[in-house]
Amino acid sequence: MGESKATGESKEGVDGHAGAIPPGRGDACDAAFGAALGAIKDAALEYLRGLGTQAVSARGGDRLPERPLPLEGAGADAALRELVGLSEQRSVASAGPRYFHYVVGGATPAALAADWWTSSLDQLASSASGSPLAVELEVLVTKWLAELVHLDPDAYTGVLVTGATAANFVGLAAARQWAGERRGVDVAEEGLAGLPPIRVLTSGFVHASVVKSLAMLGLGRASMERFSRDNRGTLDVAAMEERLQELRGVPVILVGTAGEVNAGRFDPLQELARLKDEHGAWLHVDAAFGLFARAAPSAGPLAAGLEAADSIASDAHKWLNVPYDCGFAFVAQRALLAKSFRLVADYLPPADGQPQRVPANLGPESSRRARALPIFATLAAYGRQGIETMVEGHLALARHLADLVRDAPDLDLVDEPCLNIVPFRFAPRGIRKRDWDALNQEIGREVLRDGRVHVGTTRYRSVVCFRPAIANWRMERQDVELLVRVIRELGGAALDRGRSAEEG
Ligand SMILES: *Cc1c(COP(=O)(O)O)cnc(C)c1O
Repeated sequence: MGESKATGESKEGVDGHAGAIPPGRGDACDAAFGAALGAIKDAALEYLRGLGTQAVSARGGDRLPERPLPLEGAGADAALRELVGLSEQRSVASAGPRYFHYVVGGATPAALAADWWTSSLDQLASSASGSPLAVELEVLVTKWLAELVHLDPDAYTGVLVTGATAANFVGLAAARQWAGERRGVDVAEEGLAGLPPIRVLTSGFVHASVVKSLAMLGLGRASMERFSRDNRGTLDVAAMEERLQELRGVPVILVGTAGEVNAGRFDPLQELARLKDEHGAWLHVDAAFGLFARAAPSAGPLAAGLEAADSIASDAHKWLNVPYDCGFAFVAQRALLAKSFRLVADYLPPADGQPQRVPANLGPESSRRARALPIFATLAAYGRQGIETMVEGHLALARHLADLVRDAPDLDLVDEPCLNIVPFRFAPRGIRKRDWDALNQEIGREVLRDGRVHVGTTRYRSVVCFRPAIANWRMERQDVELLVRVIRELGGAALDRGRSAEEG
């Protein structure tokens, strides 16, 4: 980012010190906004320009020093200049094209600008009486998202939440309400105490946030049973089916995963849909990023069967490339959501009026940000074709990365990529295979320190490996090529260190 550029001429505080809150109207107010927003616009443009080439890691060595709350403020100009400076030191370039860690998208220009606009409007998106704009756009964009991924927009109620963790919570809350009703209990009213346990069956692909949601919902982490038949976590359909026979009469929630985090694999959703039908179960699918496979013709079939799900969790801040935080849940039975999340007080709109006009009655949050605006902007700006082109481009980059790994004598492709994650490891000849895990862990730490790219390690198929995810709209071939170069270079250096330690 270079030297900080937050140097707007501020007229604030003309009547007092720089730290006085400016007048709420008039020339001084306009000038204060102009200076603050102008300074941040300049700094942002410079930051965004540097994202493709600057170090990805936080650059400053030390943590931010503690400091007392200032008594007298320094003024917006100085405060923003300081904030931009701290960001140069301590932020991670996760919005850029060399960040392969976790599954992280960036923000398209339309989405980023709309997010600034969202803060400018500062809407209360709890109900249409708080903001018609926010609520009407939320209804519209959740329908657009369903259309984008070839789901029937009228079959689901969409709710925007903070991320897929919250979306899993929402979908499983509806499932919990359903399971209670099967036993004649309204769980939202009476709680779970009178009920026998509800069982949750899934594969080894299940995400940690589903487990966390079960804990938050009072179903308990131990309500989950995993059926996997290999070291990937692949669903053992026969074993799950057998268990369903045993559980006849017990309400069962099946959880499928569309895009797991190690290799982007999918549970066989059509099989899960069949089991749901045959056993009268609820089907929840965690499709945090895998949902967007359905926006790409080449990957869509991986998620066939999703349309049978009772509830679906997904993220817009991952593959759709809108800024954090933004996830969404689709739930087929709106009444179950309304029962779970009803918010009642005399000063609030009636909970049973027009539910979709009151998102606070359909999800966990009351006050909430107008998350629909960046989604609206990015979908309106780039359309179905734009998203399809981006996703297909990422799939091509994943195939290119896998080819580079196959061609490198010291790299090992741990699994064929089936989506946008490519698990691989540094696997040089001449050292014992059982030392590869420790070696890759060491390289994993070095990569983050090195900072040219960011990528995480995992344990997958019983080995330690890297799991780069490709989800940022700015990524190009040069970025995945750099990733491979850096891993091989740091791997070679780690080997050399090991050898000289042995000799010395
Ligand atoms: C990222 C992810 C989540 C959690 O989403 P957040 O947006 O981090 O809350 C859940 N499931 C899967 C498969 C994910 O990839």
